[in-house]
Amino acid sequence: MRPETINKLCCSMDKSELELTTIASDIHGNILQGFLTCSECERIYPIVQGIPIMSPDEYREYKLEQPLLDRWKRHLKGRTFKNFRLVAPEIKEGGEDAAD
Ligand SMILES: [Zn+2]
Repeated sequence: MRPETINKLCCSMDKSELELTTIASDIHGNILQGFLTCSECERIYPIVQGIPIMSPDEYREYKLEQPLLDRWKRHLKGRTFKNFRLVAPEIKEGGEDAAD
């Protein structure tokens, strides 16, 4: 999928702008793998084999997407995948090394 096509996409739930993260692209600059995140509701829409998955929540299957997001973990900047949204990590008191 071409980057200029992605610029025309908006969130399927609230029509807000989407931010693109590219994970893999071909030599022509077409995006093969990556994800779009909504600036408003923080939903994440994966791009798989060049196709963005833009379905509303009720047509999405969590168990199909979870393995993908696990694989892309390092691109999520510490955020976790929950209810099709990227959730920021909770900040624990006592620093990162604090044990529970
Ligand atoms: Zn949204």
